[in-house]
Amino acid sequence: GKMYDVVIIGAGPIGLACGIEASKSGLNYTIIDKGCLVNSIYRYPLNMTFFSTSDRLEIGGVPFISHGNKPNRFEALEYYRRVASSWNLNLKLYEEVEGIANSGDGFDIKTIKGEYAAKAIILATGFYDYPYLMNIPGEELPKVRHYYDEPHPYFRQDVIVVGAANSAVDVALETYRKGANVTMVVREEGLLDSVKYWVKPDIENRIKEGSIQAYFKSEVQEIREFEVDIVTPNGPLTLRNDFVLAMTGYKPNFKFLEMVGVEIGEDAMRTPRYDPDTNQTNVENVYLAGVVCGGLQTNKWFIENSRIHAENIIADLRKKVAL
Ligand code: FAD
Repeated sequence: GKMYDVVIIGAGPIGLACGIEASKSGLNYTIIDKGCLVNSIYRYPLNMTFFSTSDRLEIGGVPFISHGNKPNRFEALEYYRRVASSWNLNLKLYEEVEGIANSGDGFDIKTIKGEYAAKAIILATGFYDYPYLMNIPGEELPKVRHYYDEPHPYFRQDVIVVGAANSAVDVALETYRKGANVTMVVREEGLLDSVKYWVKPDIENRIKEGSIQAYFKSEVQEIREFEVDIVTPNGPLTLRNDFVLAMTGYKPNFKFLEMVGVEIGEDAMRTPRYDPDTNQTNVENVYLAGVVCGGLQTNKWFIENSRIHAENIIADLRKKVAL
């Protein structure tokens, strides 16, 4: 098929930013995503509000005006659709990339719909596709969910929320306020320091007054249709249960990076190897952009501080790709 200067994998905010920079530089590019436009944001909880103010989520110089100073998911979806339209971005959606082979003078990209060739590749694949599993019996039951959308189904239900970070806290508070009977099961001694400072007193007070039950230093051991076994410092417990919302976090697809030859660091965070000035990996002409750069440290890079990756990458590519 056609030879692209650069193929960008991932139509998240940072993949889009890379497409915009490529377009500005007259590079021949396409952006491929396995899902819809900004697929990760689309799968966020329906009522989520960004922690970033809207100006910090802007790309391509398109202004982002939201009603509050922090936009919600609906506004962000609207915004990124508008960015994609106003830059007339070249997008291939619902097209999962299955394989990438280094052909020596470029790359062959195989998707579920076709094959493409490119001189360079940008991996902007994020971290939202692979939840951390608890690896316990019953995890495969349909009542166990690793993604949360809205509270309504949990009204008057016995819900266990697993986790100690922002998403667990948000889910516990929202389902509690919409009529669920919520129990948090937390492996750590307490909630994580990364919990948003404006949310922390709310959850702490709900736990203190007993509206939300919490077991710390505790783990879920087995899930059955109407019960869950947990281990607590005071011994094992069996709780009546209707749903388990496992907000245990997500991690990047390391296998996908390794398939392209990108080296994964041996540090605890498994940081992929790349040059911080250009974002080029150990493989010539393979670049990393966005949140995937942090490896397991998924809160290191976010939209505001990784928009710059797009500029750095395209500046480097422009020097190499003969126009
Ligand atoms: P993503 O947006 O994750 O995009 C990666 C894309 O790659 C996805 O669309 C995915 O479908 C696609 N993809 C993956 N594998 C393949 C494949 N094999 N083939 C084709 N396509 C593939 N960040 C902020 O800056 N501010 C916030 O307020 C904020 N709030 C957040 C709230 C929640 C609940 C979560 C989970 C995250 C939040 N983040 C926030 C982090 C945010 O998700 C990232 O900053 C942002 O989405 C990163 O953009 P990205 O383009 O690097 O990756």
